[in-house]
Amino acid sequence: MNVEKTGGRLFGTGKCSGLSGTRQLPMIQKMVESMSQLQEEKGQLQEQLMALQKKLALRESDQQAVSTQLQTQGGTDLEKHRDLLMVENERLRQDMKRCEAELQELRARPPPCSECEHSKESAQLREKLAQLQLETEENKSRLAELDLEVHQKTDRLAEVELRLKDSLAEKAEEEERLSRRLRDSQETIATLKAQPQPIKYIIKTVEVDSSKTKQALCETEARNQYLQEQVGMQRQVLKEMEQQLQNSQHTTTQLKAQIMMYESELERAHGQMLEEMQTMEEDKNRAIEEAFARAQVEMKAVHENLAGVRTNLLTLQPALRTLTNDYNGLKRQVRDFPLLLQEALKSAKAEIGQAIEEVNNTNRELLRKYRRELQLRKKCHNELVRLKGNIRVIGRVRPITKEDGDGSEAANAVTFDSDDDAVIHLLHKGKSVSFELDKVFPPHATQQDVFQEVQALITSCIDGYNVCIFAYGQTGAGKTYTMEGTVENPGINQRALQLLFSEVQEKSSDWEYTITVSVAEIYNEALRDLLGKEPQEKLEIKLCPDGSGQLYVPGLTEFKVQSVEDINRVFEFGHTNRTTEYTNLNEHSSRSHALLIITVRGTDYSTGLRTTGKLNLVDLAGSERVGKSGAEGSRLREAQYINKSLSALGDVISALRSRQGHVPFRNSKLTYLLQDSLSGDSKTLMLVQVSPVEKNTSETLCSLKFAERVRSVELGPGSRRAELMSWSSQEHLEFEGSLVQTPSSARSYSSSSSGTPISRSSSIRRKLQTSGKMKPVPV
Ligand code: ADP
Ligand code: MG
Repeated sequence: MNVEKTGGRLFGTGKCSGLSGTRQLPMIQKMVESMSQLQEEKGQLQEQLMALQKKLALRESDQQAVSTQLQTQGGTDLEKHRDLLMVENERLRQDMKRCEAELQELRARPPPCSECEHSKESAQLREKLAQLQLETEENKSRLAELDLEVHQKTDRLAEVELRLKDSLAEKAEEEERLSRRLRDSQETIATLKAQPQPIKYIIKTVEVDSSKTKQALCETEARNQYLQEQVGMQRQVLKEMEQQLQNSQHTTTQLKAQIMMYESELERAHGQMLEEMQTMEEDKNRAIEEAFARAQVEMKAVHENLAGVRTNLLTLQPALRTLTNDYNGLKRQVRDFPLLLQEALKSAKAEIGQAIEEVNNTNRELLRKYRRELQLRKKCHNELVRLKGNIRVIGRVRPITKEDGDGSEAANAVTFDSDDDAVIHLLHKGKSVSFELDKVFPPHATQQDVFQEVQALITSCIDGYNVCIFAYGQTGAGKTYTMEGTVENPGINQRALQLLFSEVQEKSSDWEYTITVSVAEIYNEALRDLLGKEPQEKLEIKLCPDGSGQLYVPGLTEFKVQSVEDINRVFEFGHTNRTTEYTNLNEHSSRSHALLIITVRGTDYSTGLRTTGKLNLVDLAGSERVGKSGAEGSRLREAQYINKSLSALGDVISALRSRQGHVPFRNSKLTYLLQDSLSGDSKTLMLVQVSPVEKNTSETLCSLKFAERVRSVELGPGSRRAELMSWSSQEHLEFEGSLVQTPSSARSYSSSSSGTPISRSSSIRRKLQTSGKMKPVPV
């Protein structure tokens, strides 16, 4: 419905008070529209009322018609029809009441100003109106139905009437006929009574005829009686209906009066509405006027603003001019910017180049200083080692073990000086002999203690030095324990590699290092590769074909190791090779020299400096004098080889310490193999292992004498030269008898250490020469 639409538009806009004049105009227009809407609604309601009144009038006429029918005939259908009409009347009355109530509501409703709740009311009213219209439509249809019914009833009533008339006519005719026959019969009886005897028979006949007639008469009378009763009853019903009709008439008059009243009220409401409309019209006019006035005021203000803006515009013009100038200036700057930028870039580049140059210079200077420091460090280290002695001799006394047995033979024969850890006292054949070495480790010294003493030597091989560590001593004195150790308590070999790994790791930011290992043994002057595929194969030591004078062993396996696991694998492999090769490993190992050769190659990232250092860890064969006990055959040969190689080692060390011109490296495979690691600025450590028990004192004495001699062949050419001495292979074996002799006792130079000793200055010169160059890989 368009009413709803308009309503929505009307009341959905909210309050009008407080709005500006220009906004109030459409508001007022909406109000006017709503007024006309309301009037329309009122008109529609009035039309509905009229229609209802008409319907009521129709119902009344219907009622009257029915009552007249009832007066004439009466009947149950008619009664029902009347009842229906009454019900319908009642419903219409209620409709009227509702319309009335709505009208009152309409009246009570305030003028449709701009409050929001009115829009709700209006919506409700519109809904109700729609309902009423629907109901009216329904009523109309029902009225049409009732009209049809009334027509049908009227037809049927006419029929009944006709039938009643016919029966009444028939009844009158029958009555007429019967009374005529009665009269005839009575007349006949009278004439017959007046007649003589013969006539008696006739009378009888007549009497007979008369009885029949009497019976018919009785029947007729009974019927008559019944019909009269029926008529009475009908009359009674008719009376009642009349009474009811009167009542309905009364009700109708009452309704009429009410309708009149409603009409008057409607008129009054209409009047009120007109008045309200009038007041609303006035309000509207007033609002329009107010809005107009406000609009005028606003217009005035706008005009004033416009004037202000105009003046502002006038004042802004010079500013705009300056801005335009600025803009043009900026434009020029932007145009020139690439040039400026290029210049700035050029100067920045120059500055950066200069800075880089400065940094490079600083770097070069730093590098130079670093190299100088490196040289200095090396020099200091060399000096320190020189002060300690390039060849050092350390003694280690093993603890007494179960294998030593018990009794006087297993008694301890070794004592130490509590104030000097370099002195050892040995009780041999009732006499105490004292020896002074560089250091002596007592039986309780741990593997770590020993390693602590040698670790400076080991790290020097990272700096490119060659190092040799020998374990010397009789079988069972603890050489293998010191070098290899046990799984739980490893010896120098494993600890050295671990230390090298950690040192290399520490330097990894500046240096790149690779560590390789070879494991070899020398048995009966034959060199074998314990990591090779053919361990029994004898290897040769050869001169490098490049003419550098370096030695190498063709075919000696080198394993690259990076972790402790790698070391263990290598040792395991070497050990397995040795085990499979010899049935009695313990015995064999005491008759051969075991070598672990570790090569450390390094490159300095920054300088490109390359170094190669070699660490030779040698577990020497047992130094006991087998030849003396009358051994024969292979045992004697083994002993001779061992004696020869150990004597050669003594000779070489002696020659090196006394700085002789000729060092007899070639006298044994061992010294020949280790030539590079024993000569020049290489460092050597002799670990002399001794047994502490009584039964081994002879061998202990020999070992300690050997140690002291090695140590006493002191550096320094002049003053010490008198101490220089040599030992031949014979001496190594026949040392036992010279216990009382001191190492300083005069001895002739061995023929093997031929040539005069070189002067100290020439030795130092040689050292400097060798220390300057990088070591090649000799093996
Ligand atoms: P070598 O290799 O000189 O023949 P070993 O190293 O085989 O002698 O030592 C012989 C025995 O003495 C081994 O059972 C070893 O465990 C033991 N031993 C050697 N030195 C020590 C020590 N410092 N502490 C404990 N036991 C040792
Ligand atoms: Mg051993």
